[in-house]
Amino acid sequence: MARKVIGGIPVSSGIAIGKAFFLNRRRGLVRPRLVLSSSELKDELKRLELAISSVAQEMEEVRKKIPADLKEHEAILNSHLMILKDEKLFGQAKRFIQEQQINAEWAIEKAVFELEKIFNALDNEYIRQRLQDINLVADKVVSVLLGTQKTLPKISQRVILLAHDLAPTDTVLLEVDKIMAFATTMGGKTSHAGIMARSLQIPAVVGVEGLEESIQDGDLIILDGFEGKILIEPSEEELTRYTDLRYQFEAYQSLIMRYCHLPAETIDGYQVKVFANIELFEEVTSVIDKGGEGIGLYRTEYSFLNRNQLPDEDQLFEEYRDLASIMYPCQVVIRTLDIGSDKVDHLFGQIEEANPALGLRGIRFCQKYKNIFRTQLRAILRAGIVGNISIMFPMISGLHELREVKKFYLQIQEELKKEGLDFNPNIPVGIMIEVPGAVLIADLLAKEVDFFSIGTNDLIQYSLGIDRTNKHVSYLYQPLHPAVLRCIKHVVDAGHRAGIEVSLCGEMAADPFCVPILMGMEVDSISLTPQAIPGIKRIIRQASMQECKKLLREILASDDVSKSNHIVREMIFSRFPEELTFFTSLVDEEK
Ligand code: PEP
Ligand code: MG
Repeated sequence: MARKVIGGIPVSSGIAIGKAFFLNRRRGLVRPRLVLSSSELKDELKRLELAISSVAQEMEEVRKKIPADLKEHEAILNSHLMILKDEKLFGQAKRFIQEQQINAEWAIEKAVFELEKIFNALDNEYIRQRLQDINLVADKVVSVLLGTQKTLPKISQRVILLAHDLAPTDTVLLEVDKIMAFATTMGGKTSHAGIMARSLQIPAVVGVEGLEESIQDGDLIILDGFEGKILIEPSEEELTRYTDLRYQFEAYQSLIMRYCHLPAETIDGYQVKVFANIELFEEVTSVIDKGGEGIGLYRTEYSFLNRNQLPDEDQLFEEYRDLASIMYPCQVVIRTLDIGSDKVDHLFGQIEEANPALGLRGIRFCQKYKNIFRTQLRAILRAGIVGNISIMFPMISGLHELREVKKFYLQIQEELKKEGLDFNPNIPVGIMIEVPGAVLIADLLAKEVDFFSIGTNDLIQYSLGIDRTNKHVSYLYQPLHPAVLRCIKHVVDAGHRAGIEVSLCGEMAADPFCVPILMGMEVDSISLTPQAIPGIKRIIRQASMQECKKLLREILASDDVSKSNHIVREMIFSRFPEELTFFTSLVDEEK
């Protein structure tokens, strides 16, 4: 048995076995607190400005060194550069210096504290992430003020990198080929460190409790990026087991990558299109690398969330046009803003709602904030001239609502025409089916749109009445619940009767236990996170439509979700044992 096992959140799959190396431990910057005289204030402001510009310069230099295949880093650096210009942080710090006559280090601490008070009131993963970025940037400026900025040590052998936190500037300057894996104390599922680990394709665990207290430099550790575990000073038996697992995973990865650009066709000739879900423009490279046949869901809200100001029409137009051009002739489905509920945004302020998930989110938000919607629609219509863009509206719940949205969309086209701007009036228009009301009237909705995409993440939430972010009821989050499966089947059949294509873009599309059932229902396409595409394609290519249909019949005949889970797990375990070692699933027999 290992001396100790600690755990965190797995953010990038894989196994690494090696020596621990701490890049940094908890930032313990001691900030002096000084009260200044009026005559010192001007110099203090200058001192702060110099520190900010020195950090900005350092970031700019790092940006120039970013290799082309690591463009994700650039987006992160850009967001850190924006924090340097943030009025609410350093603007506020400057005001504190002037109004309260305090030194710059203390003023920054106070400004961060104010922001934390506001942000901590919002229980949201994105906001937590942003707060972490703000702290990182603030710490950098304070280090310059104190003259304690650290230079990165040279690493002479391959190590597992450990850190309290990793800033993008740190990772870019590191010798990446010397790092087998990394773990941090800070960070959550969507943290930048995770994005970087996935883009570098190295295993990573973040949010590790006890990381800094339990491990010393040079300790032998095993990092398990599947389960989010770190084994400190493992036993012989553990070393052998994890070494085997590592070889199996490497072999599996190279195997699935070899076939990922082939079509997802069953052994009896049924083909389903496999598209990618992306949140950031930068992910386009992994869509192409992993065999995505297009983009089935571009969650556009993230490029709003990443900025300090609302993007203007030209910025959005350029982003959408570039994305479409890179992917051409493959399709790119741009989903209009799905802000609200768990995707609260600092740009719009906090909206007081008792039940945000049932409130002003998705299309309802856009209907209220027409100017934001107008800007986005104009950008999409103009980028549509590339020829492969489709538009998709989220959270549609009724026919009247859909008609209102379409009326507005046509009105925008009239505006563009009058202004003499080039746009594509024939962009395919689709909707997401993610509330039960829309399921029940799918036949009516299908007559008014070109395609459906079923958003099961929300459909499960709304049909079973469980908050998808609430861990207390997560045991009820059951994709194979008969009600969920009937909803999906109903929508697929209604769409097909009306002659339109039906896609599915929720997490079920990346779940090896669910995909054969969706195949059996004859969905036209699935859309999933790029990382999962090779594995899912491989399952489809080994399956037959006949067995998918048989499985579907058995599942639809089952009246109890635990029975359904059992049937599916038996089938998948016996048919695709290899895949299951390396996949996580929503279908849990224990639930
Ligand atoms: C969904 O609800 O299934 C979906 C794909 O949309 P999101 O996860 O962005 O709400
Ligand atoms: Mg949704």
